[in-house]
Amino acid sequence: MTPRAAPPYDVIGVGFGPSNLALAIALAETPAARGLRSRFLERQPHFRWHGGMLLPGSDMQISFLKDLVTLRNPTSPLTFVNYLHSQGRLHDFIDLGTFHPSRIEFNDYLRWVADHFADRCDYGETVVAVEPGLGADGAVETLWVVARDAAGREIRRQTRDLALAVGGAPHLPAAFAALACDPRLCHSSRYLDHVDRCGPGGPLDLSRPGARVAVIGGGQSAAEISHDLHARFPHLQVDLVFRGHALKPSDATPFVNAIFHPDRTDFVYAQPSERRAALVRSYRNTNYAVIDADLLKALHVIAYREKVSGPQRLQLRPRSEILSACGDADGIRLRTLDRYAETEAERSYDGIVLATGYERDPNPAILEPLAAYRDGSELARDYRVPTRPGFTPRIYVQGYSETSHGLSDTLLSVLPVRAQEIVDSLLDQDRRGGVVAPARPPATGGIPVWARQGAHP
Ligand SMILES: Cc1cc2nc3c(=O)[nH]c(=O)nc-3n(C[C@H](O)[C@H](O)[C@H](O)COP(=O)(O)OP(=O)(O)OC[C@H]3O[C@@H](n4cnc5c(N)ncnc54)[C@H](O)[C@@H]3O)c2cc1C
Repeated sequence: MTPRAAPPYDVIGVGFGPSNLALAIALAETPAARGLRSRFLERQPHFRWHGGMLLPGSDMQISFLKDLVTLRNPTSPLTFVNYLHSQGRLHDFIDLGTFHPSRIEFNDYLRWVADHFADRCDYGETVVAVEPGLGADGAVETLWVVARDAAGREIRRQTRDLALAVGGAPHLPAAFAALACDPRLCHSSRYLDHVDRCGPGGPLDLSRPGARVAVIGGGQSAAEISHDLHARFPHLQVDLVFRGHALKPSDATPFVNAIFHPDRTDFVYAQPSERRAALVRSYRNTNYAVIDADLLKALHVIAYREKVSGPQRLQLRPRSEILSACGDADGIRLRTLDRYAETEAERSYDGIVLATGYERDPNPAILEPLAAYRDGSELARDYRVPTRPGFTPRIYVQGYSETSHGLSDTLLSVLPVRAQEIVDSLLDQDRRGGVVAPARPPATGGIPVWARQGAHP
């Protein structure tokens, strides 16, 4: 007897970072969505939020009240406050008197939430393609999500709708392309894994006297890494190499911060494209190439004290445009240009850390098999990829529409509200000719306990 094919999922989420975690909660807490069959696929072997940058001493740059759910449903059991309570740390956290927990603690909160959904996430699977699932009349009715596990095995799952939230890809500036596989070069996204191997006996020993490292970038990650390297290796020379004239503070002041309020998404989206671009430009100093004021102060104190008593192990190299980077047996030679002084400099380093940010391709490679069905690249207000008539599945993309939805799109600020907007769109009856997947009774263990209690609107 031929085994019966498994019914398609209602929605598959690709990536299980904060965006799709927020979506998983919204699905579970929305009564009409509880019957939907959902599955999430995550390439990491277990939950970890920007693990390469979980530096001791690094803090969140957003209030803990902007967790995965509070802005949408403050009564949810999955708030940061309830996490603290469940860990027995609520009183102690209050006594800290801060809105900004450490990144290590926030990662643990996110992991705690992810554990609530362990039965609907497959870890260790990388989605490599999303292919059309054709119906009898040749129309695309479903999608095939093709994943590979750690052993290279292919796993195919069928779904009606898709929610993509794969984050950005580390940006490697062109000058470093030839060194992409050089063990002396590392992107900030892998920093902690890399630096742990940079002691005595490692492939790169940064603890030996005379060792030199360049950190490229003028933003928060570059500053954090420079600070960490300087403290971690007492003999290391750390050069912070950046294009601007000075390291600049991030603006997190109240009136400015309002740009991250969820209702601003409608405002930005309603603007013509040149005004949206102008808005993003004018608020850039909230997020890009800027540094938390406390950290700026800490770096300045180090640099000043070293000016007084030496040696000057922390050096700022402003106005440094990278011309080339060449590796040889002695190290990596970096050639830089100062356009203002019209001078070039060449320095050799034992290692280089690129804190050069992330890039987000508006046409992600895994959607390539669907290219013929796409109808433009700008996402709809509900984060849907526009598709041609005859293509029924809905594809939602999170974190890839800063140019149309505003600066909060790649951050945590709007996650709970965005997740609800996507759930509402998923539940929209029109698409399936008035038929939404019926609300089924939860399978044993399938729906988290709080959702079964129906406590939330
Ligand atoms: C060091 C650092 C600190 C930050 N701090 C803050 C902060 O304080 N406040 C703030 O608002 N924002 C912060 N951000 C911005 C950050 O982008 C968001 O916090 C958040 O991580 C976005 O969530 P996401 O789920 O969209 O993307 P990500 O967190 O990047 O998650 C994407 C997930 O998808 C998985 N994935 C990728 N490709 C595939 C695939 N093909 N198949 C399966 N899985 C895949 C990845 O492994 C990852 O787990 C920070 C970013 C960094 C790098």
